[in-house]
Amino acid sequence: MFEALGDKLTGVFDNLTGRGALSEKDVSAALREIRVALLEADVALPVVKDFIAKIKDEAVGDKVIKSIKPGQQVVKIVHDGLVEMLGGSLSDDGKEASAISSQLQLAGRPPVAILMAGLQGSGKTTTSGKIAKFLKDRHKKKVLLASLDTRRPAAMEQLGILAEQTGNGFLPIVAGESAVDIAARAMDQGAKGGYDVVFLDTAGRTTIDEELMAEVAEIAAIAKPVETLLVADSLTGQDAVETAKRFHAQLPLTGLVLTRIDGDGRGGAALSMRAVTGLPIKFLGTGEKLDAIEAFDAERLAGRILGQGDIVSLVERASEVLDAKEAERVAKKMEKGTFDLDDLGKQLGQMQKMGGMGGLMKMMPGMGKMKKQLDAAGGVDDKLLKQQQAIILSMTPTERKNPALLKASRKKRIAAGSGMSVQEVNKLLKMHRQMSDMMKKMGKGGMAGMMQAMGG
Ligand code: GDP
Repeated sequence: MFEALGDKLTGVFDNLTGRGALSEKDVSAALREIRVALLEADVALPVVKDFIAKIKDEAVGDKVIKSIKPGQQVVKIVHDGLVEMLGGSLSDDGKEASAISSQLQLAGRPPVAILMAGLQGSGKTTTSGKIAKFLKDRHKKKVLLASLDTRRPAAMEQLGILAEQTGNGFLPIVAGESAVDIAARAMDQGAKGGYDVVFLDTAGRTTIDEELMAEVAEIAAIAKPVETLLVADSLTGQDAVETAKRFHAQLPLTGLVLTRIDGDGRGGAALSMRAVTGLPIKFLGTGEKLDAIEAFDAERLAGRILGQGDIVSLVERASEVLDAKEAERVAKKMEKGTFDLDDLGKQLGQMQKMGGMGGLMKMMPGMGKMKKQLDAAGGVDDKLLKQQQAIILSMTPTERKNPALLKASRKKRIAAGSGMSVQEVNKLLKMHRQMSDMMKKMGKGGMAGMMQAMGG
């Protein structure tokens, strides 16, 4: 999702991050491109204007322009701006698997009601089933699903099927009842049946009409929902934002659910939704299956949009893990071409600490694309890192300093010591030779520059 915007912004940032000192003009030009990219992604104009104005002061400030890595600074400012626009990031425990339930306020005397609202076809019924399934499977909650859509028997039946599939309770349909009657019966049944949560799936509407709005308001008065969620189809872009605004004017919503994110290449709705309504986005629907739902995390979405991976945490983690002096020492050796197997072993160890090759690449700007290609070609094997380290550890210090000593008999000993084959030992030696050659060629600013940058 959001590939289009991500690719565009990555382009802007590629231009910036490749540079040393930036002028105010450079930053302004980049901000103009960001503005266009956001508009093309269908983010509402006032939201874009507001966003650019907010980050502009910071981005063209003295601190950025005079800093050592101005491009990175601008990326971070845009990233943080996006996170803020999207409603801040989840707390650390919110990022756990329990995130779905942490998005809901379920306190209160059971049964508590969750009111689901939205236009017809937005994914309201499916989302009710998804959340209900999660609450039951993960939290052992007893959930009752009730459809209030008296105009569309098919909608009621669909919810009944979902209840059965997810092993949740379903309120039997009684012909001739009004939606308000059904809501009252659902709450009553919820209390009698010992349910924890009652989902009230309101009538889907094709447009917002006064009569249905009055009906929902009455239902809300009876059930006193702990959550009133508006489900909106992200594919409808600005219409979804408009719908949210109008619903919210009539009904005190507590949060938003954006569905069909799996098909949303632009992401404009997600970006403007929060800014326009002030409501938190709580969930993202990512497919038709019942487990295709995610707790919304601004940090993650901002990362995806920027195509920058988790650049901020990369920088933070790198400085925690890598000893700056060590990085500098290795960088110098690389330049001189005296990078030995000892050094390689240390590098492999540090890479492992940073989440292995896969973790490292995911976090590096622009590497997301490369990782996709590698994954397609069979993936980066982190086990390999460990094996390579084992081989190096099985060498004597002298051998590590001088790989030329490694003749057949020594290789056999090392292979046996590390539990690997001679072929694998050869592969590692070849990799080291290639790396050394490459480093000599690249000299300063290449790999060495990168190592230094990560350490400092
Ligand atoms: P309702 O009328 O608002 O209750 O909408 P439904 O729950 O019946 O959903 C309408 C259609 O959208 C169904 O075919 C769902 O399978 C599909 N749908 C719902 N959520 C998602 C989603 O997040 N991604 C995708 N791809 N399809 C979804």
